[in-house]
Amino acid sequence: MLRFKVVEEAFDRKAVPVEIPSERPEQYYGKLVFNRQKMFEYLPKKTYDALIFAIENKEPISREIADSVADGMKRWAIDNGARHYTHWFHPLTDGTAEKHDAFIEHDGKGGVVEEFSGKLLVQQEPDASSFPNGGIRNTFEARGYSAWDISSPAFIMDKTLCIPTIFISYTGESLDYKTPLLRALNAVDKAATGVARYFDADVKHVHSYLGWEQEYFLIDEALYNARPDLVMTGRTLMGHESAKNQQLEDHYFGAIPSRVEAFMLDLEIECHKLGIPAKTRHNEVAPNQFELAPIFEETNLANDHNLLLMSLIAEVARRHNFRVLLHEKPFAGVNGSGKHNNWSLGTDKGVLLFAPGKTPMDNLQFITFVVNVMAAVHRHNGLLKASIMSATNGHRLGANEAPPAIISIFTGSQLAEILDKLEKSTKDELFKLSGKEGLSVGVNQIPEILIDNTDRNRTSPFAFTGNRFEFRAVGSSANCASAMIALNAAVAEQLADFKSKVDARIAKGETLIHSLLEEIKELITSSKPIHFDGNGYSDEWKEEAARRGLDCETSVPKIFDAYLSQSSIDMFQSVGVFSKLELEARNEVKWEMYTKKIQIEARVLGDLAINHIIPVATRYQSILVDNLVKIKSLFNDEKAEKIISQDLITIEKISDHMLIIKEEVDKMVQARKKANRIENEREKAISYHDNVAPCMDVIRYHIDKLELMVDNEMWPLPKYRELLFIR
Ligand code: ADP
Ligand code: MG
Repeated sequence: MLRFKVVEEAFDRKAVPVEIPSERPEQYYGKLVFNRQKMFEYLPKKTYDALIFAIENKEPISREIADSVADGMKRWAIDNGARHYTHWFHPLTDGTAEKHDAFIEHDGKGGVVEEFSGKLLVQQEPDASSFPNGGIRNTFEARGYSAWDISSPAFIMDKTLCIPTIFISYTGESLDYKTPLLRALNAVDKAATGVARYFDADVKHVHSYLGWEQEYFLIDEALYNARPDLVMTGRTLMGHESAKNQQLEDHYFGAIPSRVEAFMLDLEIECHKLGIPAKTRHNEVAPNQFELAPIFEETNLANDHNLLLMSLIAEVARRHNFRVLLHEKPFAGVNGSGKHNNWSLGTDKGVLLFAPGKTPMDNLQFITFVVNVMAAVHRHNGLLKASIMSATNGHRLGANEAPPAIISIFTGSQLAEILDKLEKSTKDELFKLSGKEGLSVGVNQIPEILIDNTDRNRTSPFAFTGNRFEFRAVGSSANCASAMIALNAAVAEQLADFKSKVDARIAKGETLIHSLLEEIKELITSSKPIHFDGNGYSDEWKEEAARRGLDCETSVPKIFDAYLSQSSIDMFQSVGVFSKLELEARNEVKWEMYTKKIQIEARVLGDLAINHIIPVATRYQSILVDNLVKIKSLFNDEKAEKIISQDLITIEKISDHMLIIKEEVDKMVQARKKANRIENEREKAISYHDNVAPCMDVIRYHIDKLELMVDNEMWPLPKYRELLFIR
């Protein structure tokens, strides 16, 4: 049987040897990246200076410089074996898009020359109609164009020069993730710089930093190919829990299997060649689950690197006869995969704004920024949840060991104590605090206490972890930009608001420190509901969160509504990240994607149920029935009766499960037909959520019961115990 064949093939497989470069990582790091060192080498001095100036000052480059850059870039790419180039962009599907063109142009003499002009470097016109755009294309212009993001370096992947670009419509609406991300990073730069200057007048820019932790599952390719549900949807739509999975908690610190170790090494080498600073790798909690984390980088670059990693990891996995599963919940009953987004802000002078410092003023700055983040997350908690939500992440949130579908902030006890103290200070005390010796009483105690903030609450979706915040609700397959856009934009709005209030106080004659402390105190009080250090997995928290007025919506399509609330629209407009039109268009895409994903899952499950599971269960049942007849002829009535009554129970149970499966599949098909007739994308998605998805749970439940009853020899699909343990 195919199942046994593939299981044997998978279990017999040996580690694939890795080609280890003869050089040390220091030498091959960034080898495939057109970084500053390569720019310096391949560009004329004048071009190099102009390009670096433009990158550092966020300014456009002239056509002449573009031509010169293109020429140098092409020579470097060809020297490194590239034959094609592509504008590499991030459409509204998760993942990346590219259209490869060869460098060749006619030479006018019947041959070709390898050319690449500034025009082709800077701008291209991919067919916008092949990418989701939420109706913007219909309302406006049919065409879209991609334009070079000079802040992210070009790189070579698969012998193709990849140029990071934004993707926008002819009328300027963003059709991708990168455009709004860059806008949000600009907004937070501007707003945070304004506030940071209270503490250091020389600050010119504030950068946003992101360190992602990518979780994933590996599965042997033979087993993967024998599971149509994995191939088509990225997750198992059926499969009874294995008797052993993660309950012994033996995977996390267990030895990494040699096949996996070889894969990880290979992946790490490839990452380093592409300038992705991969640093940490380890087993995760569930069997076959692993994690890779790089050193944090500026958010736009870090996100490009994560997207690149997601392509790379799939490619390297194949070399090792694995398939990588980036789905948030590939297996029921064991942990899902997330992508913690470690996020911070830091000045161009190297000061991390969420890290306590050495002097009272440093610490006042630290408190100022932390409290503003809390206020922004509080005000936009529904939106932040929407920013990480998807059909796939919806399976993970609220499930096994995943953050709940409610956004709250964990601060840890030391920070909580300080906030509490500030909040309880009377006007007089604040006034004293803002005096010289006063500062030493309150705010400067922070460095000693916070240095070792190892207190980690894994149940919190948004945790303060010493010098950064960790947004843990982000899904493993997501483009981090979605979360980073919402977070940086919301914090930008909050900081701008804070600054205008502090400035107003100063204008009235209050001192800077006193103004800051007063405003901080107000924010601590008003954002209290978002602060929760308890167990986020508990049912009591769900009730408590509702009482606190936090967004507790659990229906994925309805969670997306938060993008179109008045406060979200106002916020995004005020910081120049999204227009209302863009928000509406993007939500159309979100609802459409949700519907499509559930639709595909429902179809695959329906097919598997009817043409894989039911026939096998029927066959097994008929063997049992045949056996009954034989038993009857063999034994005397009394004995036969006893044996038969047992078997009859089994036969009846199998019949019952099959009956329900068939009924539910019918019901699901009807629900789908009904939903498909709905025009409105939001209503359609809701109908899929409310009427189609629940049938899938019922069908699965009964298939999983059959799996336990039907002869193991006959069961067609690899079982969890075979899928989940790499030898
Ligand atoms: P853990 O699993 O304990 O949360 P890891 O070491 O796996 O921690 O990952 C932490 C991630 O956070 C790494 O990518 C690291 O570079 C990143 N990080 C550390 N400090 C900061 C910071 N100030 N801002 C953003 N990311 C950070
Ligand atoms: Mg973490």
